[in-house]
Amino acid sequence: MGRSSKDKRDIYYRLAKEEGWRARSAFKLLQLDHEFNLFTGVNRAVDLCAAPGSWSQVLSRKLRGQEEGGEQGEEVKIVAVDLQAMAPLPGVTQIQGDITKVSTAQEIIRHFEGQPADLVVCDGAPDVTGLHDVDEYIQAQLLLAALNITTHVLKPGGTFVAKIFRGKDVTLLYSQLKIFFSGVTCSKPRSSRNSSIEAFVVCQNYSPPEGYVPNMSNPLLDHSYDVDFNQLEGPNRVIVPFLACGDLSAFDSDRTYPLQLDAGKRYEYTPPAQPPIAPPYQQACHLRRNNLLSREDALSNRPNTSHDETAP
Ligand code: SAM
Repeated sequence: MGRSSKDKRDIYYRLAKEEGWRARSAFKLLQLDHEFNLFTGVNRAVDLCAAPGSWSQVLSRKLRGQEEGGEQGEEVKIVAVDLQAMAPLPGVTQIQGDITKVSTAQEIIRHFEGQPADLVVCDGAPDVTGLHDVDEYIQAQLLLAALNITTHVLKPGGTFVAKIFRGKDVTLLYSQLKIFFSGVTCSKPRSSRNSSIEAFVVCQNYSPPEGYVPNMSNPLLDHSYDVDFNQLEGPNRVIVPFLACGDLSAFDSDRTYPLQLDAGKRYEYTPPAQPPIAPPYQQACHLRRNNLLSREDALSNRPNTSHDETAP
């Protein structure tokens, strides 16, 4: 794919670069906010799984003032957590860490000087394998990890927003979220492709069960949970409302829009707002540039195995 062909096919990808967002996912959070008014009264916000940082940019611009460098919103604190390093953003403190670790929760609380967060958002995604069942399972694990860490840092009444895959066992996740939040809505922003099973849960009014002590255990890993959750009935079956968000005037992320150029004006490529700082493909590029990706080199670097010894 040429470097501008994605521009031509994906309107949100193009708009993200034009508006200076690090990733097109910024529009998902903006459209969720438009629907749910997520940012009103928020002074302490946590962005879980934040790299490369477009959701943190949205938090920074919306909570601190119009522009990222804005002087307003001095009392606002934003913490971004990711396994990967992320280029700095004004007003955003970064923790390079794992959201499944209690030490990460402690670090967030330290940054907030013991105060709980008003809002936790999580756009976390594992590397997809293409095996749908595996991907859904791992995504569910990540969502539960995000929920676990959220129970350590969120204030009662606070809001939690997270990416969810609407797979066949999504009812179990809804049930678990409903234990902690009185309002749970599943929402699909218009910038999220219809072809993707991705959606977002907007969980409002954090109200953990009385006596609940936050911990990092994960019920999905407990094999005694041997229930088919889609067979649950009556009050045990939780049906969560589903809401498409971003009004109909917003661009449809599954459509291709023609480039709108003024007469006589040529198309100009816009580079990404923030190129990756340590992409996983860096090593492969280095090897290719130095002609080290050839089969002979790979073979000569390979450790000896009994299979090699018997090979002709
Ligand atoms: N919201 C981001 C944005 O707008 O730029 C994009 C997030 S990206 C889709 C998913 C991120 O989840 C990756 O950067 C990945 O490193 C992170 N991630 C996955 N598992 C994680 C974990 N256990 N702890 C912290 N981050 C994790």
